[in-house]
Amino acid sequence: MTVTRFAPSPTGYIHVGNLRTALMNFLIARKAGGTFILRIDDTDPERSKEEYVDAIKEDLEWLGLHWDRIERQSQRLDRYAEAADRLRDMGQLYEAFETPTELDLKRKKQLNMGRPPVYDRAALALSEDEKARLRDERGPGVWRFKLDHQRIGWEDGILGPVSIDAASVSDPVLIRGDGQVLYTLASVVDDTEMGVTDVVRGADHVTNTATQIQIIAALGGKAPDFAHHSLLTGPQGDALSKRLGTLSLRDLRARGVEPMALLSLMARLGSSDPVELRTSIDELVEGFDITHFGAAPTKFDADDLFPLTAHVLQERPYEQVADTIAALGVPGDIAPRFWEVMRENITTLNDLGDWWALCRDGAEPIIDEADREFVAQAMAMLPEGPLDEDSWGNWTGAVKEATGRKGRGLFMPLRLALTGQQHGPDMRRLLPLLQRIRAKE
Ligand code: GLU
Repeated sequence: MTVTRFAPSPTGYIHVGNLRTALMNFLIARKAGGTFILRIDDTDPERSKEEYVDAIKEDLEWLGLHWDRIERQSQRLDRYAEAADRLRDMGQLYEAFETPTELDLKRKKQLNMGRPPVYDRAALALSEDEKARLRDERGPGVWRFKLDHQRIGWEDGILGPVSIDAASVSDPVLIRGDGQVLYTLASVVDDTEMGVTDVVRGADHVTNTATQIQIIAALGGKAPDFAHHSLLTGPQGDALSKRLGTLSLRDLRARGVEPMALLSLMARLGSSDPVELRTSIDELVEGFDITHFGAAPTKFDADDLFPLTAHVLQERPYEQVADTIAALGVPGDIAPRFWEVMRENITTLNDLGDWWALCRDGAEPIIDEADREFVAQAMAMLPEGPLDEDSWGNWTGAVKEATGRKGRGLFMPLRLALTGQQHGPDMRRLLPLLQRIRAKE
């Protein structure tokens, strides 16, 4: 039975980078008919916030990425303590007392000598007396996992065969001096106890994976299959990390991005499969294959989401937007027609507000000096009575006859006078929606 998890830390809003991880794990579980767990990695009580937990859930629900189960690390602290005790009993955990400044100094020295900055395990040489003294002076130490200095290898679902020399990695700290269990241990305990079979996460976790494979083995668990996806960069290959704040899912939602546009892009970006707009999550599941993803950094351009969003909206039936349109104040009798006309002219639903304002109040007309007389003459000829889709043709036909104007010279000044814009919906279809003109009926 396939079990995957998405394990965000609730220390901020989730962004497109997190979504890539969430989506891949979700799709693997759905494709295999397995279980998708939302795991909240909230072992850090200072940085974890309940509002972010709520936001993560809301964002995933908005996208339709429903989880089968939710787990919270803060409720499993006893499990981690128990695992830590077992590791301690096995002699796999040791207490170390270096201050951050001391560690920093050690790292600098190593780098100066051209050596990798790996923790030197000085704490292993401490006698019980020395430890007692340090504990008195500095408080309890941190607990490090003693790596077995061998090569650690795995077949990565995206990277292929990976091999890391454990001697090139510092013994990871699993428990802080204040007793707080760190992610490296908590995640291993959860993955093992929850039967997680597949872990997809960012390439920044590759070293963690190496150490976690050894910790899992020490605890007698079975390592899941790992896959590490590349990190996203900006459109020019620039690091995205600094801009991820503006690429939060809620920010994209506020900008009007449609869920299926975002999911369709993210399920394909960085893979050999083309980005194609999908209309349902089931379709995404069907076409998903993790082995099609490459290891190279993946370019992400938020602008790509808008043409996709426009496509989604062009296909959207009125019933699905009726509430949104009603909320704008569009009268029910013209609302379906309003949508039919506008859906081809908007990028996001946010654009509807301006179009409705234009229909309701009219626009500041733009009239070229040279067209002033023509426009005045044409406006005086605006048809009376109910307007329909023939009205524009009838009106401009009559104006053409009266003024001798034709083509662009006839139509553009009228569009500019009525909408204040050069572009927009087909005037034949827009005219009957212009309320100020209707009001004259
Ligand atoms: N909380 C971790 C993170 O957000 C989870 C990493 C993992 O998937 O194991 O980076």
